[in-house]
Amino acid sequence: MDNKIKAALINLDKSNIWHPFTQMSDWLNDDPNSPLIIDKAKGSYLYDVDGKKYLDGVSSLWVTLLGHRNPKIDRAIKKQIDEVSHTTFLGLTHKPAIDLSEKLLKILPDNLKKIFYSDNGSTAVEVALKMTYQYWQFKNEKRSFFLSLKNAYHGDTIGAVSVGGADLFHSRFRYLLFKSYFAMSPYCYRCAHRKKEIEFPVNAENFRDHNMQMGCQGQCIKEVETILAENNKEIAAAVIEPLNQAASGMIIMPKGYLREYANLCKRYGILLICDEVATGFGRTGKMFAVEHEDVKPDFICLSKGITGGYMPLAVTAVTNEIYNAFLGKYEEFKTFFHGHSYTANPLACAAANAVLDTLQQDEILQKLQPKIKHLKKELALLSKHDKVGNIRHCGVMVGIEIVEDKKTGKPYDCKLKTGAKICADIRKREVLIRNLGDTLVLFLHLTMTNREISKIISAVKIELDNL
Ligand SMILES: *Cc1c(COP(=O)(O)O)cnc(C)c1O
Repeated sequence: MDNKIKAALINLDKSNIWHPFTQMSDWLNDDPNSPLIIDKAKGSYLYDVDGKKYLDGVSSLWVTLLGHRNPKIDRAIKKQIDEVSHTTFLGLTHKPAIDLSEKLLKILPDNLKKIFYSDNGSTAVEVALKMTYQYWQFKNEKRSFFLSLKNAYHGDTIGAVSVGGADLFHSRFRYLLFKSYFAMSPYCYRCAHRKKEIEFPVNAENFRDHNMQMGCQGQCIKEVETILAENNKEIAAAVIEPLNQAASGMIIMPKGYLREYANLCKRYGILLICDEVATGFGRTGKMFAVEHEDVKPDFICLSKGITGGYMPLAVTAVTNEIYNAFLGKYEEFKTFFHGHSYTANPLACAAANAVLDTLQQDEILQKLQPKIKHLKKELALLSKHDKVGNIRHCGVMVGIEIVEDKKTGKPYDCKLKTGAKICADIRKREVLIRNLGDTLVLFLHLTMTNREISKIISAVKIELDNL
């Protein structure tokens, strides 16, 4: 692109636009050439207006699943445009959404029987929260509170923020929010209860061995139990990101934690909402994270990868037990009064149908397993680096926590913006990644090659060497 046109575009961006999760004074003061204008993509790469290419190491914030400009998804959307691009879902229906519901119910845990559509991850969670709240009213119980975890992230709308446990994003809104209980996060690397002298990470086969090795006695799950034991009559539901608290820096739960958590919900009669907005559709190595621990929640929330990263779409999948409670005569007003203008947008559903077909027909998850092994091997080497405090890894989701002192885990002064600087500098190596504080995040397309994976890891290593 001509430099003058490019400069004019950047000027307009800076004068007109407020970017999400962005300190705009940093954005405005950046080197004038620094904002990347992306105008093309193909496979694992994004291209800027100067034709420079970048490996998309975060799946365009966790949405792209099967590469950019995937021919099957492209075709499905183009075909749908020639039929109908949008129609309301209030009182009407359409084939793409019907087909998709059938495909989803085939792969979701078999206790989930109904699909409620919306258009982003936050709304998928809001829907589940509102459904549980209303459900308990039908049962003549007043349950107004929720159980969540510290470091949890469920989206940015007020209901989702109410069950959010990431202080940086959420604490400012405290007085605006409904009440939730927060148990401690299973963040083993920074856990105050672990024996400080143990070798980290601990790779125990089950939760009990893990707790023995950590010397922590499973304090994190004990807190869940205490909260439930004391307050279960007023808690409507527990909400959790299964296996991975992604937005707080890829905090991977120890093996068996999720199973225990689900058992406790069952024992205390609390509905369980699993937010698989980040983990769904293969990112953990299985279709859904709950499969790893054979958990069957009352709700699963899905979005992000569902359309391959093409279109906004979300799903709240529920049991018949929940669905049936809302049935009744019109004048009983048991209706779930909730919906969005773009609920079940047909273009988005067409994209999602193509994604699910491709996952199956191209045996994407089978082919993914050796890639996960390859990634694991590369990460094992990287974890020896003296700037790496802890690497957390589940499927193709990775958090690399960098520290000033490997031995003590002492973090860098946050004013140094070490993580952000690395992510800016690594662009020179044709790689785009994002940081959450000083945790570098990789979130890979399922279709990335081993070579592309290695290229990202070696770029990270060079940046760490330069620290
Ligand atoms: C991203 C995310 C959300 C929010 O999704 P949006 O589409 O950004 O609203 C909710 N839950 C989890 C676990 C997420 O990762």
